[in-house]
Amino acid sequence: MKQLRARILGFFMLVLVLFTLLFLYLISSILQRQAIEQQGEDLQSQLLTLSSQLDATQFEDDLDLVDLQLDQTAEVITERITFISPEGEVIYDTRAQEETLENHLDRPEIQQVLEGESIGTFNRTSESTGEVLYYAATDFVNAEGELIGFLRLSKNVEEMGGLTDQFIQTLALFMVISILVALLFTNYWTKRISDPIEKMKQITERLRIQDYSSRYREHSYKEIDELGLAINHLAMNLDYQMQEINQNQTQLKELVNHLVIGVMVVDNYGNISMVNPVMNEIVGEDLYGKIGMSYEEGLHSTALIDLITRAIQERSLQNKETTLLYPEEKVVDVNVVPILNQSKETINHIVLLYDITEIRRLEKVRTDFVANVSHELRTPITAVKGFAETLLDGALEDEEVLVEFLKIIHKESTRLDLMVQDILQLSRLEQHKVRGVIQDVRIKDVADEVRNILHQKVDLKQITLNVVEKEAVVMEIDRDQLKQILINLIGNAVTYTPNKGWIGVTIDRTDHEAVITVSDNGLGIPKESQSRIFERFYRVDKARSRNAGGTGLGLAIVKWLIENNQGRITLDSEENKGSTFTIWLPLKHE
Ligand code: ADP
Repeated sequence: MKQLRARILGFFMLVLVLFTLLFLYLISSILQRQAIEQQGEDLQSQLLTLSSQLDATQFEDDLDLVDLQLDQTAEVITERITFISPEGEVIYDTRAQEETLENHLDRPEIQQVLEGESIGTFNRTSESTGEVLYYAATDFVNAEGELIGFLRLSKNVEEMGGLTDQFIQTLALFMVISILVALLFTNYWTKRISDPIEKMKQITERLRIQDYSSRYREHSYKEIDELGLAINHLAMNLDYQMQEINQNQTQLKELVNHLVIGVMVVDNYGNISMVNPVMNEIVGEDLYGKIGMSYEEGLHSTALIDLITRAIQERSLQNKETTLLYPEEKVVDVNVVPILNQSKETINHIVLLYDITEIRRLEKVRTDFVANVSHELRTPITAVKGFAETLLDGALEDEEVLVEFLKIIHKESTRLDLMVQDILQLSRLEQHKVRGVIQDVRIKDVADEVRNILHQKVDLKQITLNVVEKEAVVMEIDRDQLKQILINLIGNAVTYTPNKGWIGVTIDRTDHEAVITVSDNGLGIPKESQSRIFERFYRVDKARSRNAGGTGLGLAIVKWLIENNQGRITLDSEENKGSTFTIWLPLKHE
């Protein structure tokens, strides 16, 4: 901006100085010309006066008289007087020695007179004096009209323009002062204009680097201030828009980061430009560290890479259910969506991975469940059918056999009934058809109730069942659900503990949770089966469970109920030594 100011100042000064010089030159030459003309006219009239005063008759015989008369005249006038004979010889000159002077007949002023002009004039550098002189000459005739010589007056041109020079000098001084004053004002004005412009330049520079905080606060001319205010509005608008964009970006980022779907953006060059945490989780890679790398380098799964490549090549959406093998087997629904710009060119590809492993697993569990249910139901049904058919085929006659068969039929149908009940309960639970009544429940009360329900079976096997309440624990839960959990766990303990065994139930709490353990010193569960016993229809020993009237669904129901109440269950067991199931349930229901 300083440069601009200097340029304006420089240009302005140059123009001013040039015009001043031009003006001075024109004025001086006009004035000088006028002064010369004026003085020339004066010189001419002086010449005529002088010529009329001289007595021409006296000169005819004695040219010395010329000297005398002219000497007298020269005393009163300052101009150079020359008298030239008709032949051109200088007879008298007030400034130079006559003898040294050459013939003056060819002088232009003399020539003009010879050509008939009454006065001949000319200005030139005098060869004799070296001065620039203005000459005026006239003929000098006697009474008879004969030419007896030429009278010439000459005056120094500088002398003639002396006054003009003074005037010009004063004018020049005035001009210089004017220029200086103009310089001061121009400096002030350019500063008043350039400083705000400089400030505006700084603001726009800041805007360029996305700093929207600075504002124009200068005071200059109205138009410049208006421009400054317009820039302020622009900065405010940009600031507002930037805030909005940032807000949207933050929201978008939060949204993407909290999506349950894995999201990855691949740019036009095939480089990863964005990922979300779920994406990292699904592909088992820290893709944040691979931003800027190509997707082929960043990903492991060739199936996934192929799908992205195809989307890029064919510029079309790709959708496929794929199994990822790394870091663990996962079933994912992959979508690769090309993002087009306004001119329909692909700019990005969004890769969406939806982990459907659990969905597929549940679907399999459901199909397996149906197969298992059919299988499980078939066993008692076949038994009932077989025994009934045998009876009908004639076994009825034998009363012993009849009673035994009827007992078996009764047992199998009871089991069938139990199994159907369990299946119905599980499916009702899963469909959330069971609406619990959440209330404050003292766990010890429920445990005692369960003990009463199971007391016959317990007594029959002479099992010792202890319920120890380490602390009176009251929790918020549906009482029937807690009862069902304890019936299944304590019931199993009774079933899988030999006669005269021991079962202990303890009730305790932590800050937020109730802790219930059900231990026995029964058969225990082999290590390899421990992770599977909560699966539906899983039994360690099918025959023994069946014999004991088990359905294989008890622990599945327990697990479902506990997890549905935001709790958890663990198992600690050793074969032939016993098992301990520990349950944690939150004291407050959410
Ligand atoms: P079931 O109706 O067969 O008892 P559960 O789902 O209740 O079905 O139990 C699954 C399997 O876990 C049982 O078949 C049994 O083998 C084993 N089990 C459960 N509780 C115990 C326990 N307290 N001691 C030993 N084994 C147990």
